Amino acid sequence: MQQNQTEIRHDWTEQEVQALFDLPFNDLLFQAQLVHRQFFNPNEVQVSTLLSIKTGACPEDCKYCPQSGHYNTGLEKERLMQVDAVIEKAKKAKASGSTRFCMGAAWKHPADKDMPYVIEMVKSVKELGLETCMTLGMLDEGKADQLADAGLDYYNHNLDTSPEFYDKIITTRTYQDRLDTLHHVRESGMKICSGGILGMGETATDRIGLLRQLANMPKQPESVPINMLVKVAGTPMENVEDLDHLDFVRNIAVARIMMPQSHVRLSAGRESMSDEMQAMTFLAGANSIFYGECLLTTPNPETHRDLQLFKRLGINPEQRISEADETQEQTIISDLQKQKDSSVFYEA
Ligand code: SF4
Repeated sequence: MQQNQTEIRHDWTEQEVQALFDLPFNDLLFQAQLVHRQFFNPNEVQVSTLLSIKTGACPEDCKYCPQSGHYNTGLEKERLMQVDAVIEKAKKAKASGSTRFCMGAAWKHPADKDMPYVIEMVKSVKELGLETCMTLGMLDEGKADQLADAGLDYYNHNLDTSPEFYDKIITTRTYQDRLDTLHHVRESGMKICSGGILGMGETATDRIGLLRQLANMPKQPESVPINMLVKVAGTPMENVEDLDHLDFVRNIAVARIMMPQSHVRLSAGRESMSDEMQAMTFLAGANSIFYGECLLTTPNPETHRDLQLFKRLGINPEQRISEADETQEQTIISDLQKQKDSSVFYEA
């Protein structure tokens, strides 16, 4: 791999980001590829599985979200899953080639009574040799420390959009609440997964504002999910205007250039993208996807289609785990290799 040359910057101005968006499409993608290749293997995509461990009846009013208790979307509400059931799902995810298992609960914040279960889930999933990620709503310092002590690798908490557009989308928690949670996560030593949603009626300036918030953090998030709004009937966003798919690809490319070391993840909305558009997003620097299990409550493209696309593009799942000792890492890599050899990845 080439020597890293691109500097990680935390002082992006609106004008500088606008200038990236103003580049001719081919120039932008070329620049994104140059940056991408300094930090990552361009033919590897990190694969995560996301499981909703507690669905629906969320007290927050995020206008895009079918899980909000404020809207009637017909979503079946569920209680917190049993730990054993979560472990079974994690085993399947590992067998399908995922290296990270993300668990999401539709909560304002985790309640004290739920913490022992959540902590057991983290410990059990880690014992399988998977990276762990959770998204449980807001965290105070104490709960962030508890999760970090349990061994949680990543915490997901999205900024969603720019500070200026934010109160058009959510009124039950503030932008500062979100920044505070991210601060507690970072202080606890966990890695941050934070991104946003495009296509909610925000302006181009709002998209710049979101990327600046993420890139200009003292330490950039290790994972940056870029979602494309899934318009769910019953939510206030069901009729919002469609986002131009090329604008989405531009956003991926600009995110890649601004956050060279972060995994830029295709998240919700991927099922509505053609294979060709997904290929273009990989070219623009996206290098992480959710795979298999439903992406929280929005449909994820069928596993089979993902495998076919990887095969057609010559993409391999990234074999990367955090803080594992060498032996454990070798075992997992060899497990994954066996799966590949038995065509799980390419011939499913
Ligand atoms: S996005 Fe998260 S916090 Fe907002 S309503 Fe949905 S589950 Fe609740």
